[in-house]
Amino acid sequence: MKSNLAAAREASGAELMMVVKANAYGHGLKHVTKAMEGAGVSFFGVANVGEARRIRDAGVETRIYLLGPTWAGEREEVVAREWTACLSSVEEAWEFEKLAAAAGKVLKVHLAVDTGMGRGGFVIEELPGVMEKLDGMGHLEIEGLGSHLPSADEDVEFTKGQIARFHEVLEVCGGVERFRYRHLLNSAGLLGYDRGLCNLARPGLMVYGVSPLAGFQEKLRTVMTMKSRVTLIRTLPAGHGVSYGRLFVTEKPTRVATVGVGYGDGYPRHISGQGGEVWLKGRRFPILGRVTMDQIMIDVTGAADVAEGDEVEIFGANLPVGEVAEKAGTIVWEIYTGITPRVVRCYC
Ligand SMILES: *Cc1c(COP(=O)(O)O)cnc(C)c1O
Repeated sequence: MKSNLAAAREASGAELMMVVKANAYGHGLKHVTKAMEGAGVSFFGVANVGEARRIRDAGVETRIYLLGPTWAGEREEVVAREWTACLSSVEEAWEFEKLAAAAGKVLKVHLAVDTGMGRGGFVIEELPGVMEKLDGMGHLEIEGLGSHLPSADEDVEFTKGQIARFHEVLEVCGGVERFRYRHLLNSAGLLGYDRGLCNLARPGLMVYGVSPLAGFQEKLRTVMTMKSRVTLIRTLPAGHGVSYGRLFVTEKPTRVATVGVGYGDGYPRHISGQGGEVWLKGRRFPILGRVTMDQIMIDVTGAADVAEGDEVEIFGANLPVGEVAEKAGTIVWEIYTGITPRVVRCYC
């Protein structure tokens, strides 16, 4: 993870907010934040106060940035524990101002602006006049200006326009001098585009070793490998169905190995019938029929070296998770965050 972080630093030329939402993309929030504390991360980016709590309660001291909005019942804790919120409206700012005043604090906050994501932040048309209103709030320090890219890995023209729009907004709101932090770029953004006047980047996926853009994967190292074992090997006769719905029927006697992983572990059921493979004894083997909750079956006909108890790589260093995601019709973010608690995380 540290070398991936270094790659993010080099590619962006900016300070880094490491995004650790959704249990650090399934890698384990506590372990990841403990391991990366002191690695030169300016903030850990989380989705909500529940995640912020888990990091603080683990004793991690790096600043915490809340990527999503807070609702009224959460804000007192945000102020008390000095987490950095991003604001989407003057009303929200006013609520924080009152709470910070009551606590006798000056709270650092960032402004979120919606330059195209459509999920949160000030709508650009509302911005004129906002800065004056915020300037009147003596218990808020407007430390940063941020926005988010919806299509950095899909639409170059739109993204370039969005980056230009962000710079216009920055001017309207008072320019570079006004904001200690200017941030817009996620992994695809920082890999594929110039940072302009941004001085903080928010990489997630790439720190876990997966590039959202083709051509950068060589610079990164896969962090997670998902493994299981061969639990059973049998030879089925010709004409024998394999798994639910009998999607696959043997044409000849087939040596079938059962592997102890399924959608109950977060392995995507939608890969069924889409050419999914696993890595075993240094090569690939095809999955037969549907993925079940706890088990998959693979064809090991002719592979005399495959035995019960053998370790199987479901994805990881030898079998790219991106390939699994693509065949399952989804994205790596969803695969990683969908790995269930049943799967034991081992750290080495
Ligand atoms: C999730 C998220 C990121 C990180 O995105 P990656 O594509 O994983 O790098 C950055 N910024 C915001 C606001 C996010 O929600």
